[in-house]
Amino acid sequence: MCELDEADESVVVLRDALWAAEVAPGYEVPGWFFLRARRHAELITGLDVPEQETFGRRARDMVAAVTAATGAEATYMLMFGENYRHFHVLIAARTADLPADRRAGDILKLRAERTDVERARALVPAVRDAYAAMTAEPPVADAASAGAG
Ligand SMILES: [Zn+2]
Repeated sequence: MCELDEADESVVVLRDALWAAEVAPGYEVPGWFFLRARRHAELITGLDVPEQETFGRRARDMVAAVTAATGAEATYMLMFGENYRHFHVLIAARTADLPADRRAGDILKLRAERTDVERARALVPAVRDAYAAMTAEPPVADAASAGAG
């Protein structure tokens, strides 16, 4: 995962001081993106305090951006940390056409069935734009306005 810092600009949705999101080699299913710590941190328990404090916002904005850009019916966020201990989550658009046996955890079967490098990379500009639009807005709702409804 550290080596994703060398990835070509064309697969990069975001990079800031602490976080990056890209289409990852070997996981080029259209609508799949990895959100990962820039620093080499192992597992969620290895995140330092600034990473812990910013992860929720990055995760929320990435899920929202992927949903907006793909029109997915649902967008998943999966975390395992067994094969690659470098902290990352897989954000996966679940489109309306996917049958019941390819939903929830079974979506990982698409890695074997629907890898399409070109189509996966072609979604990057739209997700990048959606992410930029998302982060230009103020945070969703503060406690006062959330309570007012
Ligand atoms: Zn690493």
